[in-house]
Parts: sequence; structure tokens; C-alpha cells
Amino acid sequence: MNHKMVNLCDASKKVADDMKNFSKWVREELLKRAPKANKHIPHSVCGEFLDCEYNPVAQCWRGICNKCEVTVEFR
Ligand SMILES: [Zn+2]
Repeated sequence: MNHKMVNLCDASKKVADDMKNFSKWVREELLKRAPKANKHIPHSVCGEFLDCEYNPVAQCWRGICNKCEVTVEFR
């Protein structure tokens, strides 16, 4: 395991102190934003396979269906 210092204000420190495993929670939150491989996902409307890229901020895969001319998000 690696160590990284985190600065907390009084309010966030109280929340962290009450958590059972603060480090585990931080790791899980960070991994949600880690780069993920592109996916081929079928569009539920037309069945066309979309080339989807992961969006770490929205935490979903996004693809464009050229057949339906819509942007589709997958969780
Ligand atoms: Zn479609």
C-alpha cells in the first residue's frame, strides 16, 4: 500500500473519524474515476453496437448511436 496525505477541515475530519474504514472508502471513490477500457454496448432501442468511452466525472460509458442520432449513457 502507498500513503498520501489528505487535508481535512474540522467537519470532514469528524465524518472521517466516524467511518469504519476511511482508507478503503477513499480507494473505492478514487477507482470510480480511474480510466476504464472502451466498451461495445448494444443500444436498447435499435440493437446497434456503440463504441462507448468511459466518462469518469459522470461515472458512465457514453456512446453515440449514428442510426438513432442520439448520445447514450450506460451505467
Ligand atoms: Zn440506436
